[in-house]
Amino acid sequence: MANPNQEIKYTKLFINNEFVESVSKKTFETFNPANGKKLADISEGFKEDVDIAVKAAQKAFKRGSEWRNTTATHRADLMLKLADLIARDIEILANLETLDNGKPYESAKGDLFFCTMLLRYYAGYADKAHGRTIPTEPNTFSYVRKEPIGVCGQIIPWNYPALMTVFKIAPILATGCVTILKPAEQTPLTALYIASLTKEAGIPDGVINVITGFGPTAGAAISMHRDIRKVAFTGSTEIGKLIMEAAAKSNLKKVSLELGGKSPLVIFDDVNLDEVVPLAQEAIFTNSGQICCGGSRTFVQENIYDEFVKRTVELAKKRKVGCPFDSNTQQGPQVDKITFDKILTYIDYGKQDGAKLEFGGKRWGNEGFFVEPTVFSNVTDDMRIATDEIFGPVQSIIKFKTLDEVIERANNTEYGLAAGIFTKNLNNAITFANSVEAGTVWINCYNATSVTSPFGGYKLSGIGRELGEEGINLYLETKSVSINLAANN
Ligand code: NAD
Repeated sequence: MANPNQEIKYTKLFINNEFVESVSKKTFETFNPANGKKLADISEGFKEDVDIAVKAAQKAFKRGSEWRNTTATHRADLMLKLADLIARDIEILANLETLDNGKPYESAKGDLFFCTMLLRYYAGYADKAHGRTIPTEPNTFSYVRKEPIGVCGQIIPWNYPALMTVFKIAPILATGCVTILKPAEQTPLTALYIASLTKEAGIPDGVINVITGFGPTAGAAISMHRDIRKVAFTGSTEIGKLIMEAAAKSNLKKVSLELGGKSPLVIFDDVNLDEVVPLAQEAIFTNSGQICCGGSRTFVQENIYDEFVKRTVELAKKRKVGCPFDSNTQQGPQVDKITFDKILTYIDYGKQDGAKLEFGGKRWGNEGFFVEPTVFSNVTDDMRIATDEIFGPVQSIIKFKTLDEVIERANNTEYGLAAGIFTKNLNNAITFANSVEAGTVWINCYNATSVTSPFGGYKLSGIGRELGEEGINLYLETKSVSINLAANN
């Protein structure tokens, strides 16, 4: 049940299957964005704590260790058990997520359900890291083995804290790697709770370690660490570049990046507006607009443009903003003051640049970090609200005429995370899907992410793909072995 008074049990670093204070004993505060009040003091990890966690992870990954001797099939069992434990505690986790992040309770539950699906799906991969045999010379037998990379570092953002935790640890467990995971400083609570469940599931000491703390300290210690073999990062493009630089400067650890976006959603004049107007709005307003693949450029064909804007505004007026624990709330607060201020600044840019503010544009209520659902029309491609990632509930509606023109304009961005198209015309839909520079394309749907489909970005939106089979490969090394069959020894 939704419970804003949910007890917060875990606030310390999780190293070697124990909750421990940081070496410095320092703490930082995490807040409820719906009212700005402190929720808990969280242990603040620094480089020395990352070093301790790396040592624990190295021990867990050492040849002959319990983890290395765990069969792949048993790793799958552990993952299924973890999925069951998340399902058992879904209400506790959803309450913690709603308190810490501000997303509506039912959305938090949806995220956690997705976590269980991902663990169960990747459990099926645990014993399927098949290698292959390779034809080489007549007296040689060659084969390829897939092996876990080993000690990994994983740094995640605040917009889907539990989901991002499981996006990261599920392939770790499936492949037999070990990790040091750093949640975002704004939202540490669910990652710590999930860590406690990994222990309860029976995952050995040192396999999953969680270091709470800030980016330039704990995060940088991970990306710079010479004993971490791979870093997986989800967050902004700006910090993604720093991660890559740190990897290059330290030990050339493998890097995968899931970064920002400015995704186009294209709506042709043959659609049913009753269906498409709400879907296009949800594409950008979901999660208070704090979604990397949000449809933040709504391209609408010229002859339905005015009607589309009118209906969109009517719908935005009806959107229920408010306490994320109320069952009819569609939109909670933004995660913190910095994000809230950035969104209001961009709304100002929209007005300054000549877009028409149709609805919203201000703070909602008088406590917490709520922003009104905001709709701009008459947006042009060069305006800052059309080029930059705002990460808030701001819908920018842009006019277009033809398919060729809109493909060109959709691709006129440095990002390439996702794209969507609504039309009854199959040829237009497929031509768009094949031409748009984006890692994911949705036709007549949006944000339809699935555990089975690879997810990630072109261009500045990232490197590598999570989910699906590709997400497993990020954590595997490939080894070629050749045996000389003619040798006598
Ligand atoms: P952010 O880049 O500021 O922070 C992300 C994480 O990086 C946090 O844990 C933070 O502490 C850490 N960090 C910050 N500075 C660091 C440094 N110097 N070294 C190492 N780590 C550091 O991003 P954010 O504001 O938390 O999240 C929003 C961004 O995340 C948006 O741009 C969004 O598009 C992106 N995002 C992308 C995806 C995706 O799958 N592509 C998913 C969710 C969010």
